[in-house]
Amino acid sequence: MIEKHPHPLLASLNFDNSFIRELPADPEPLNYRRQVLGACYSKVQPTPVSQPQVVASAWEVVKLLDLPPTACDSEAFAHIFAGNALAEGMETYATCYGGHQFGSWAGQLGDGRAINLGEVVNQAGERWTLQLKGAGPTPYSRTADGLAVLRSSVREFLCSEAMFHLGVPTTRALSLVLTGDTVIRDMFYDGNPKAELGAVVCRVAPSFTRFGSFQIFAARGDLTVLKQLVDYTIRTDFPHLGAPSPAVYLQWYEEVCRRTAAMIVHWQRVGFVHGVMNTDNMSILGLTIDYGPYGWLEGFDLNWTPNTTDAADRRYRFGNQPAIAFWNLGQLANAIFPLLDSEDIAPLQAALNTYQQTFANGWQAMMASKLGLERFNPDSDYELCTELLTILQSVETDMTLFFRHLADLDSQAGPADDAQLMSPLLAAYYLPEHITPDYQARLGAWLKAYLGRVRTDAVPDELRRQRMNAVNPKYVLRNYLAQLAIDQAEQGDFSKVNELLELLRHPYDEQPDKEAFAAKRPDWARQRAGCSMLSCSS
Ligand code: AMP
Ligand code: MG
Repeated sequence: MIEKHPHPLLASLNFDNSFIRELPADPEPLNYRRQVLGACYSKVQPTPVSQPQVVASAWEVVKLLDLPPTACDSEAFAHIFAGNALAEGMETYATCYGGHQFGSWAGQLGDGRAINLGEVVNQAGERWTLQLKGAGPTPYSRTADGLAVLRSSVREFLCSEAMFHLGVPTTRALSLVLTGDTVIRDMFYDGNPKAELGAVVCRVAPSFTRFGSFQIFAARGDLTVLKQLVDYTIRTDFPHLGAPSPAVYLQWYEEVCRRTAAMIVHWQRVGFVHGVMNTDNMSILGLTIDYGPYGWLEGFDLNWTPNTTDAADRRYRFGNQPAIAFWNLGQLANAIFPLLDSEDIAPLQAALNTYQQTFANGWQAMMASKLGLERFNPDSDYELCTELLTILQSVETDMTLFFRHLADLDSQAGPADDAQLMSPLLAAYYLPEHITPDYQARLGAWLKAYLGRVRTDAVPDELRRQRMNAVNPKYVLRNYLAQLAIDQAEQGDFSKVNELLELLRHPYDEQPDKEAFAAKRPDWARQRAGCSMLSCSS
């Protein structure tokens, strides 16, 4: 049994653990791997670790929880957020869920290495579930160890916060703690296991419920628990919809469709590729969740995926994310259909179609904003966008740099040749030798059309630039930057993790002393493991 830790710094955490209070529990108290039937969660405690050490923490999340700013400096904090001790009010559990993995139903998955600590209700009345990732095995661990390594934990910690500051809906990260223990991983599943440093991230979100949380009960024909979980979710996370009923289920589902569409539009805006959009990795709140083998586009490429496990089919490639979200929502529709008290699938189908509509509208508005246009004009802008994406795809062009520098173009300049026109964009090209005369002519034609379109808006260049720079980030968590921070952290130097955390708090601002972090990926990182290729091993 892990002890309660009555540290005064953590006494301000105000727990109200509604998930375990209101939903059915697994009666089995022992922690062994099994199928858990008729229950939303199992009580389980974290596995103690030998020497917890805080690598980084996010003060914004500390504040969200009404913790004092110095809380992270205490030894109690390191122990509690590595799973060695519990603060007053914490009740630990792992939840049951299933999911479609790479398009196939995988049965029970569940929190295999995530252990929830309970829900904090802060002074603003917001509910925040705290969850340790990598804190030891649970009944849902299947054949795995329940642990996480430092490299994947650094990636989850930094990306959660980076996404938040980019304005992308996401789960948050409170802390990243080294455990002092090692974990064996075969990073590329090629028979070369090695001991790596273990770590635990404390994730924070209003709810960690996934599409797969509903699917598992539907798949088992357990409509009683399915209904309990849907009703609980609506009451707790969608209270504005009113008392649960079949009509409200439809409204709820439609809202999930809209939120998911909004999230995907953001991913396409910033060039984020999730990498594993299985239905167990889809948040019911439309949050980006489960940062595994994700990556950021360097060269704009609709076919790119960072996930080596998905290299053959590229199911989760950048350009396929909108369609996969739609497919996943279809699976969620199947799961809740039995609760609708009707054999008519038309209302659910109509609700699902709001995804397509919301995504299409959101994508158009997003592209218009990236280009600095007042609004998307379908007559001209659809063609403008598709031609741009074709051009970007044809020569390796850094997506982040291209859009950032596009804001620097002068719409009032006199006639210029193609080379002059594209000169502000040159920093975005990985292989300048691939800029052929044909390419230059095509881009030049596009730039002229673009500047002509910009002039129809009659927005002053300076204002257009400000607007574009507010949606086209200067700094993203480039894959190689995360890897550099990991390399140093593995040597015991956490400064780069913290430097990146600070940098990515202001992704849209010019940070003159941090210019190097805005540069395109250096050539050494092109093929290096961890920089452009990631496996699910974490
Ligand atoms: P993922 O696709 O990485 O989100 O994981 C799919 C399932 O595998 C989830 O149920 C995870 O909790 C579980 N899982 C992943 N890694 C581990 C691990 N090291 N130990 C136990 N369960 C794991
Ligand atoms: Mg997952």
